[in-house]
Amino acid sequence: MTAKISMKSTPYTRFQATLEDVFQKIELGAPERKLLSEPQAIHRETITIKRDDGKKAEFPAFRVQFNNARGPYKGGIRYHPDADLDEVKALAALMAIKTAVVGIPFGGSKGGVQCDPKELSKREVQEISRAYVRAFGKHLGADIDCPAPDVNTNADIMAWMRDEYEKITHSYAPAMITGKPLAYGGSLGRDTATARGGFFILQELTDRDALDPSELRVAIQGFGNAGAHMAQLLHGAGYTVVAVSDSQGGIYSPEGIDPVRIEKYKHKTGSVAGEYCKGSVCDIDRMKMDGVRKISNEELLELPCDILIPAALDNVITGANAKRIRAKLILEIANGPTTPEADVILAKKRVKVIPDVLANAGGVTVSYFEWVQGRSGEQWTAERVDQDLKRVMLAAFREVRRTAYREKMTHREAAFAVGLRRIMEAMKVRGWI
Ligand code: GLU
Repeated sequence: MTAKISMKSTPYTRFQATLEDVFQKIELGAPERKLLSEPQAIHRETITIKRDDGKKAEFPAFRVQFNNARGPYKGGIRYHPDADLDEVKALAALMAIKTAVVGIPFGGSKGGVQCDPKELSKREVQEISRAYVRAFGKHLGADIDCPAPDVNTNADIMAWMRDEYEKITHSYAPAMITGKPLAYGGSLGRDTATARGGFFILQELTDRDALDPSELRVAIQGFGNAGAHMAQLLHGAGYTVVAVSDSQGGIYSPEGIDPVRIEKYKHKTGSVAGEYCKGSVCDIDRMKMDGVRKISNEELLELPCDILIPAALDNVITGANAKRIRAKLILEIANGPTTPEADVILAKKRVKVIPDVLANAGGVTVSYFEWVQGRSGEQWTAERVDQDLKRVMLAAFREVRRTAYREKMTHREAAFAVGLRRIMEAMKVRGWI
């Protein structure tokens, strides 16, 4: 594989580098390339709210609609200081590929508000969420563009957004957004879906090679919705979770860590590193007793382990640290964690990378189930959601694996190839190309 090293690497230039690489491999013509290289629509607004102190605050906000050849645009909304247009564009593009890889009838989009939710009160977050819907509402809808949670957004925020949308459109719109609370049109299993989707793939891999999970050491970066659920699922299935982290830092124990205990502690104190600390000073005795030491997020990536799961932000496995990665398998639960430069190095080292557009597609897959339930008025059981998620994830994984093998590609290239071909096919039958 090749990677174009651009002068200034941004999320979108990194996406384009992979796209170009795959375009060459699957021999796409210029008109198709053009349609698949840029978003169909970019919406940007400034959101204004009144802060708790009475002062006005403004936040740049975006909705990027990448491609809707296969169905309504679909993609989450993130609240983060780095959520700028370039990042939201890249994430929207990844969504279009992701929905195609798992074969659900959606296109791809993404939203973002450039803000630091950790500095906002709950009331201020609600203000921003409602203002977002007022700003972009005309571009949203069950048949147009259906948002969902992403980094720093959750079920409460989805509820406020649906409520605002129903108010301004004078409608009942349960399928206009997914990831909602169960009490207001949510689906069973949506909260754990991203982690479960990745877990099904991991289990397929370990089963096929008849590996013993307890001998597999897993390091997980990120302890948000996806990372925390993943840690608990793996621990429950007997894997040895050796490290976890959050934005404050991480912890490492070669003997294994109990993520259930950490989750409980984090709820109380707000930080993973805090699990082994009292207040702000580390309780060294207790850490020694548990054989646990504090590590940085950078250190976590280079630990001796078998499986590395980046489940936080993008651009963490790069040309600078890829050669020091010791895991043999990387499961990308975050969006865009590995740069194209790192991909080249990892491929040479024969590290298998299960890419984001496949590994974390469980979230949007159960979003699809929620959308179906919202449109039909049905309520699925947890068992049905889980069974269907497993079926969809394993079918997608096998298709990507077959493509990788047949066409001598990495799993990322193969996933892009599968997704892009499906989008192209839809564009062809619709007469766009
Ligand atoms: N934000 C999630 C993702 O990146 C879920 C999107 C959705 O459910 O629409 O895949």
